[in-house]
Amino acid sequence: MILYAGQMMEHGSRSALRQLHPYSNLLISSVPELRQGWLDGINETVLKEASAGVARPARGETCSFFERCSVRIPGCCDVEPTPFRQLSKGARIRCQRTEEELIELSAPSQCQY
Ligand code: SF4
Repeated sequence: MILYAGQMMEHGSRSALRQLHPYSNLLISSVPELRQGWLDGINETVLKEASAGVARPARGETCSFFERCSVRIPGCCDVEPTPFRQLSKGARIRCQRTEEELIELSAPSQCQY
């Protein structure tokens, strides 16, 4: 189980956890790697999420990760009670985003510079 500010964010067996929840993703991305240049690979989004403070939800059952979340939906995540969603691999997450949206949002950018 992955908790944030007292709220369950993701729950499931080890094999079911997919790190699709934005907080789970941040948490796993924060584990240091023992190799030179590891910090250079951390993108701006992760740094912004990691440096924001923990805030209590504005309303009782809204998402406590709202202020730090890079994929938040203003007017929804900070207003509506956050639903629990069953993912296809068996884990459950607490998020307004669907599994399909979270997969799409976590995919690497296709932009080529
Ligand atoms: S409910 Fe909204 S703010 Fe909370 S993790 Fe999901 S997308 Fe982000």
